[in-house]
Amino acid sequence: MICVLTGGTGGAKFVDGLRQVIPPEEIMLIVNTGDDLLWWGLYVSPDIDSITYVLSGLLSRERGWGVKGDTFLCLQAMGQLGEPTWFHTGDRDLAVHLLRSRLLAEGKTLSEATSTICDKLGVKARILPMSDSRVETRVDTPSGELSFEEYFVQRWYQDPVNSVRFAGASDAEPAPGVIEAIVSADTVLIAPSNPITSIGPILAVPGVRDALVRARGQVAAISPIVGNAAVAGPAGILMAAKGLPCSIAGVAKAYEDFLDLLICDTRDARAAEALRGNGLRVQCTQTIMRTAEDKAELARTVLSFMIGGLLSDKPVSGESAARAGSDQP
Ligand code: GDP
Repeated sequence: MICVLTGGTGGAKFVDGLRQVIPPEEIMLIVNTGDDLLWWGLYVSPDIDSITYVLSGLLSRERGWGVKGDTFLCLQAMGQLGEPTWFHTGDRDLAVHLLRSRLLAEGKTLSEATSTICDKLGVKARILPMSDSRVETRVDTPSGELSFEEYFVQRWYQDPVNSVRFAGASDAEPAPGVIEAIVSADTVLIAPSNPITSIGPILAVPGVRDALVRARGQVAAISPIVGNAAVAGPAGILMAAKGLPCSIAGVAKAYEDFLDLLICDTRDARAAEALRGNGLRVQCTQTIMRTAEDKAELARTVLSFMIGGLLSDKPVSGESAARAGSDQP
């Protein structure tokens, strides 16, 4: 079993590769819900939706979100009624939000609603929200505090960022199965997702970081940072707001208490060497995913790096450190 901690677009690209190279029944996904929002009175969970659509073959690969070939008639009609339209929901996408909202109104948990939707869409991988409690990513800017979607979608992440917090996290519990999945998986992968606003909320749920430290399998992260920039989106700006450098060293620092292996781009070979000097295992490969084949190739390569971890239990930290120098770019 492979357990993947993931967020939205970058994570969805990686999961798209993974599903091409291993049976979906062997994939367990723990997904960020810090971006969830109430939109037109409906409960929308953007990262769960992206992962659900990728695994059901419905994702629009051009947009990286929403359903392929979707229409936007309801969005137009809501605009004509004077309702906000900055968050784009297609008509078929809306059907999922309607169903989820009805299930939640009937008293189902987010995990239960997600499982029902996955069954109906033929998703065979297991998708777990990080928590059934509401944890909300809040971005503090000079214009005031914004929800993640207000910051990212409505305002195009143009505001300077003072800080990021995860409201409700300290009282949240991991959703059923989250801790067990992390601790017992053969391999745990941190997708190339935004370390602050996609992986950060998952790590903020009490018990998750500790589970990663205790994990039986190796924990590897694929860097969303290449060179000194995020491949896309505001990860660099948000890392700076958390005092982290926008580099693979910053990614390593964000995950330092549980990371066994960092997988970064070949362009970061020199920075990787410096990290190896500090005792971290680092592997370099081509990490930019443009085509379906790029995605499958990255997934295949990541799994090949993990083979040692799949065949044996996690080495003690001394062994990890001893192997640190042996990984070639
Ligand atoms: P979002 O922030 O909600 O869109 O979702 P994610 O956190 O999953 O995705 C954004 C992150 O994915 C950004 O930090 C990007 O740098 C990273 N990313 C996007 N595409 C790629 C890619 O092809 N390769 C790598 N390594 N990272 C990527």
